[in-house]
Amino acid sequence: MDLYSGHINKLIEELAALPGIGEKSAQRLAFYIINMPKDRVDKLSKTLMEARDKVRYCTECFTLTDQEKCPICSNPHRNHRQIMVVENSRDLAAYEKTGKYEGVYHVLHGCISPLLGIGPGDIKLKELMTRLEGDVDEVIISTNNSLEGETTAMYISKLIKPTGIRVTRIASGVPVGGDLENIDEVTLIRAFDGRTEL
Ligand code: ZN
Repeated sequence: MDLYSGHINKLIEELAALPGIGEKSAQRLAFYIINMPKDRVDKLSKTLMEARDKVRYCTECFTLTDQEKCPICSNPHRNHRQIMVVENSRDLAAYEKTGKYEGVYHVLHGCISPLLGIGPGDIKLKELMTRLEGDVDEVIISTNNSLEGETTAMYISKLIKPTGIRVTRIASGVPVGGDLENIDEVTLIRAFDGRTEL
């Protein structure tokens, strides 16, 4: 039996499919949206469409950006010979917020997970190796401290070792299974400063 109109059900269904939004929150949001002034709903849907259309990967580090090259990659004052490898743009943002890192990044967009069937070919690893053909002094692997993050770190370090480029891993001040984005800045800086050779 349909408790609500088909359109509301459809809206609840779409919202509930978003990460972190359960059935109850989806219902609350759906009713909120229905009661919003029409111009605000227009603005919201336009913002969604524009973000989806305009946002793309930086051609160098693969973070999400509005331009061909992100502001970090196009900044000549950053150290382009030091590359920090992170799982996603949110982790990049976490490190950027510390204001202490002067190098550039490489965003993998995931990590290797045999359990989920995600292999090295499914993340931006080939792209990282291409970048390393240029002048690079150090690759800092800052994947999360989860089983997948560790597997990915090991895999990358084995790939890079033969090139002679220094490979380091951030210290494990970061709790196991903890997402980098949820960790405070002091811990992040400590993890960075305490990085070890792989
Ligand atoms: Zn970039």
